[in-house]
Amino acid sequence: MPPDRSLDARLAPRLAQLKAQDRYRTRRVISGGHGVHAVVDGRKLLNFCSNDYLGLATHPKVLAAAQAALGEGCGSTASPLLGGHNRHHRALEDALASATGYPRALLFTSGWAANLGVLRALLGRNDVLIADELNHASLIDGGRLSGAHYRRVAHADLAGFAAALAAAPHPAQRLVVTDSVFSMDGDLAPLTELRALTRHAGASLMVDDAHGFGVLGAHGGGIVEHLDMGDLRPEIYVATLGKSLGSAGAFVAGSETLIEYLVQRARSWVFSTAPPPALSAAALAALQIVQGEPERRRHLHALIARFRARAAEAGLPLMPSLTPIQPLVIGRDADALAASARLMEAGYWVAAIRPPTVPEGTARLRITLSAAHGTAEVDGLVHALRDAVRVPAEVAV
Ligand SMILES: *Cc1c(COP(=O)(O)O)cnc(C)c1O
Repeated sequence: MPPDRSLDARLAPRLAQLKAQDRYRTRRVISGGHGVHAVVDGRKLLNFCSNDYLGLATHPKVLAAAQAALGEGCGSTASPLLGGHNRHHRALEDALASATGYPRALLFTSGWAANLGVLRALLGRNDVLIADELNHASLIDGGRLSGAHYRRVAHADLAGFAAALAAAPHPAQRLVVTDSVFSMDGDLAPLTELRALTRHAGASLMVDDAHGFGVLGAHGGGIVEHLDMGDLRPEIYVATLGKSLGSAGAFVAGSETLIEYLVQRARSWVFSTAPPPALSAAALAALQIVQGEPERRRHLHALIARFRARAAEAGLPLMPSLTPIQPLVIGRDADALAASARLMEAGYWVAAIRPPTVPEGTARLRITLSAAHGTAEVDGLVHALRDAVRVPAEVAV
């Protein structure tokens, strides 16, 4: 019989290998609402792995805004330049620009589309992209797609960024790009210092504030407000609407010229159907809560401080994060999976994150806190973590 050359025959061994390496991924089905009390595969769990940091995905005002806009239609029916740009989109763009302190903002269907669209539009083969090694996958792929020279710098290494800027050929356009809050570590980029470096070198700076917008800053304006950057803010600001705003989509904020250029050239924007207007109406309602109810942020930051204090008492080695992302590095993939499974038995949903999402040997529990959690729930989690993160059996012997 001739060898089986079908697609499935080629893929099956790769799947088997992932399983053998504890790298196989599966999904869980959520039913009955997706707040902090989630029904997961039929079991009621306390959710500590969502990015809904302010609890807005299920907020009545957000849902009401979406429902009201839905009365006008579901899909946007076309790409933005072909008639898909709706009054709900425009109102949200205007509000996002003023919330972030930039002249204009442009909506994309997702953070992934925004990062690909911006990098591909701005950079070409003669340009240089200088990127933190822990940046989000969409920034890595966007950089590759652009064809620019890709310089990967060690995490938050200012000397490394300075050297990469100095080494780049001068007439070339140089763009430094970084996450603001690193999605698997929770720490902050040294953005003020990077801005000084790029200004000095005549280069540009782009920040992806997916996990900072709504959470950081007195009014939830994100990393730029948190660091009080004022006129020294990055030229290109990206944030998503699917995390602390509890909706979906993303936006790029910047100068009039930048946004007009993206309208002409960002392919993931030009050639993609505009987001459903109801999602923009929901995001606008969420933004109003972000700005009008600072107590949500205060409660969240109090929970973060409480979680860290309790975890320290319990001897749990957290990373130096002051954001809702509080990872607990376990090490081996199998141990992280086992800890996550034990937590689930105890009624807590905490995701295990494995390579290649994080570096080899640093599999971890990625705990995310939300303003929708209560203090007793956070205390309960610490208790459950202490039991779940046991020393691996073979080490304990
Ligand atoms: C989630 C995320 C994205 C992608 O945004 P989506 O809207 O989910 O596509 C981009 N960058 C960072 C840092 C993220 O965490």
